[in-house]
Amino acid sequence: LPEDTPNIFSSRAALSGYLQIVEKLYMDDQLDVAVRAAQDAFETTGWPAGGWTEFYNRLVCEKEARDFSAVYKLDPTLTIEISRDAPSDMREGLESAALDARQKVTSLLEMELKIPCIVSVFLPDAPLEFISGSYGYAMRKNSLSKICLPWECAQSHERALRTLTHEFAHVACYELLEGKDEPSWLAEGLALYLCGDVSDEKCRQLVQSDPKFARLLSMSHLQTALSSSDLRKDDPELVSAAYKLAGSLVAWWVGKKGLHSLRDAMVMLARGWNTTLATYVAAEMSPHAIERGWRDYILGPNPHQPLA
Ligand SMILES: [Zn+2]
Repeated sequence: LPEDTPNIFSSRAALSGYLQIVEKLYMDDQLDVAVRAAQDAFETTGWPAGGWTEFYNRLVCEKEARDFSAVYKLDPTLTIEISRDAPSDMREGLESAALDARQKVTSLLEMELKIPCIVSVFLPDAPLEFISGSYGYAMRKNSLSKICLPWECAQSHERALRTLTHEFAHVACYELLEGKDEPSWLAEGLALYLCGDVSDEKCRQLVQSDPKFARLLSMSHLQTALSSSDLRKDDPELVSAAYKLAGSLVAWWVGKKGLHSLRDAMVMLARGWNTTLATYVAAEMSPHAIERGWRDYILGPNPHQPLA
């Protein structure tokens, strides 16, 4: 064996140990310490390749937002972090948008959010290449939910309300699912539906414009498109179409069976039921029947089109 072999192994072991620590600190939202631990890892073992870079960029952007932000606790479960340099009308718009968005999501889903949530706005110059699309992201950390928004999304009350409604829908899903996984098409579709970003007409135009979009008229293809980080880079158009179609699919389900049936399906997923069973019991339709009904609706004649 070449002389340096043991070093490679020991540095790999050190790296994986560091990464576990950094990840745990990130999940505890201890961003300062997490960044320091990550930098120690680089000094000891060099820069690791792969998905780690994206995670590190996300960590640093969240940390810098915190470092330059003022913190406003709106109530026991809702806190806002926004740059101390933000104009006061922007901050006030964000505060009321956060309260309104949470209220909208919880009243539509007939639930309460119990886990504390931090809404953090990234700095205007943050390099956010790791975010795709026009929203931010929501995530469940160890003892809180966190919503991170690009600066532009907090510029107007209207845009903040739309983006935050999308992200609070994800936060609500995390609480309903109690840590269980849910299909991405359901999570994203619900988020688009609740913030009013659904247009069946746009979906019809999409699927007629290119067979690759028409293939997305299936739950499993939507799932693949929404959960692949490679596709986000290689074919962002396809992923963006998948968001729109997932919204349309959920809107179709809600139109037929009501929003409560979708919420009930998530409650059953939280109990450990599989998607087919949860859907069947909550919506009294199999996923296959929902998929077929929605596909026929999108591919069929537009009922709102005036007759020639
Ligand atoms: Zn989303």
